Amino acid sequence: MRIHRSTLPIALTFGLGISLSVLAAIAIARQERTNQRLQFQRQTDSLTTSLQRSVNRYTDILLSLGDFYTVSEQTVPRAEFDRFVKRALATYPGIQALEWAPVVLTDSTADGAAGIEPKTVGLPTRTDFEATVRAEGYRTFQITEQNSQGELVRAGDRTHYVPVTYVQPYTGNEPALGYDLSSDSIRRTALEAARDTGSVAASGRIRLVQENNNQFGFLVFLPLYSSRSSSRDMPESVLDRQAQLQGYLLGVFRVAEVVEESLETLSYDIDFVLSDRTAPENEFLGLYQASSRTVTTEVQAIGNRAERKQKALCPTAETCTHQLRVGGRLWAIAFTPAANYPATTLWRALSTFITGLLLTLMVARYFAQAQSALIKTQELSALKIRLFSMASHELRTPLASILLSAQVLEAGLSRTDRPRVYSRIRAAAKRMNQLLGDLLTLARAESGKLEFSPETLNLPSFCQQIIEEVQFSFEAVPAIDFVVSPSVPTAAYLDPQLLRAVLTNLLSNAVKYSNEPPQVSMSVACQSHHLVFRVSDRGIGIPSADQARLNDAFYRGQNVGHIPGTGLGLSVVSACLQLHRGSLVCESTLGEGTTFTVTLPRIE
Ligand code: ADP
Repeated sequence: MRIHRSTLPIALTFGLGISLSVLAAIAIARQERTNQRLQFQRQTDSLTTSLQRSVNRYTDILLSLGDFYTVSEQTVPRAEFDRFVKRALATYPGIQALEWAPVVLTDSTADGAAGIEPKTVGLPTRTDFEATVRAEGYRTFQITEQNSQGELVRAGDRTHYVPVTYVQPYTGNEPALGYDLSSDSIRRTALEAARDTGSVAASGRIRLVQENNNQFGFLVFLPLYSSRSSSRDMPESVLDRQAQLQGYLLGVFRVAEVVEESLETLSYDIDFVLSDRTAPENEFLGLYQASSRTVTTEVQAIGNRAERKQKALCPTAETCTHQLRVGGRLWAIAFTPAANYPATTLWRALSTFITGLLLTLMVARYFAQAQSALIKTQELSALKIRLFSMASHELRTPLASILLSAQVLEAGLSRTDRPRVYSRIRAAAKRMNQLLGDLLTLARAESGKLEFSPETLNLPSFCQQIIEEVQFSFEAVPAIDFVVSPSVPTAAYLDPQLLRAVLTNLLSNAVKYSNEPPQVSMSVACQSHHLVFRVSDRGIGIPSADQARLNDAFYRGQNVGHIPGTGLGLSVVSACLQLHRGSLVCESTLGEGTTFTVTLPRIE
């Protein structure tokens, strides 16, 4: 497709404007997405911080309980333990239980077991221990373990036990009393880690023995040694720690309660999956759902909407996964936007694009207007040049004829030849006069100075007068038929100057463009509210290609040959009719003749 030179700036404006608008919209959309990602990141950071703070608080309770034990020189009676622990339980609802579990030796190895030095640390043996607890009022107390069906049964024989001895709150945690923590491998791993490191150690996920709901729990152990002066210091070597181990203080937690309690004050529409990274296979701990603000252990499929949001906010799973440190273990929190999470809005990008388009349209419109003004100016200046060159050419011809005639007269012409020269001078002068008259009329029409001044005319005699003027303007006076329809009123209210210009031009053309002898006729009729003038000839006709442009100044038909003319007559006619609110219709057949019909509104 070829683009015209005049439309090039507009096309360029559109191209550039639309491209810039699209680029700006894309940049803003990206910015929005980055902002949303940052906001999501900030929210997940704050959730992680809150969870970590909670977990730390729970661990700190064990440390302060450890200090309490140390200052009490390791002998804390049950009643003291209960009193101390009740305060902490009231403050931290996420704790399922706080417990004390001493190391107890089997009766048969009271003399010494591998890794344990009973004589140095004075650990109780199983029978003595069970008797002591029973004496405290727990008559059926015994050290227990879970069998393969998950039932609690009397613990089998092994070198030592770590039975839960004090448990607060007791109600709801009854099955835990007497349970040997070292009977289960997950708990045992954490016990040994705590014993050997001397610091707080968490277990992997477990089902609590007192668990009724389908929830995961975990235990956090703090080892206590016989030679400590505070819960923060401990025997130096691992062997010493193993030898001096007295027992464990432990916190029992449900994952759901710890998480729900930590996030009580935060309400983001963000879900997350908790898992234990330290466990061999990244064990699932629970799914937190922001809609219900609870943790469940059922993994649910993520909805389409949430998945789309997740892709937008977390391009890779790692970007939205954070870590928690829980008693020497690493937990992973994989965050996902919940279904209600506010979606990325594109309205800013859209409004930027629309603003860009509007600006483009405005600039393009400005260019189009400037362009059309430029074209108009160019047309006008071309018209002026044409006008001047035509006018000078058309004026020069009759002027030359006058000058030549004057020279002929000067040279002394016989009396008989003189009338011919005089008439040539007269014709030339008339032509000049006509041309100047037409130019003046057009110039006045153009500048708005041509006025409509109607007056009452005797229409038939006015028309007759014009016909005669036209007839006598030709050397060989042509015959012009004139028919006035009986419906035509004698007196008509019309502008004589404008009507004269119209009829003179049409009649002159009819004669001029006729073959000899001219057959020209004019009729006037009255149709309802209009006066209709018809000027017909049987002349050369007008080629249909020229008919549409007859009103253009200086435009002449292709078939005019040597017939003199300026191409201004019909321009004058149309300017006059415009002022008179009339119309002009041309019907012409090439070689057969032409009829011009003028319709003027009747002014009463
Ligand atoms: P011109 O001075 O050339 O006659 P006009 O504006 O009066 O200028 O007419 C414009 C053109 O219209 C003429 O050049 C001619 O080609 C055509 N024309 C006008 N009237 C007639 C007619 N009666 N018969 C044939 N051609 C005509």
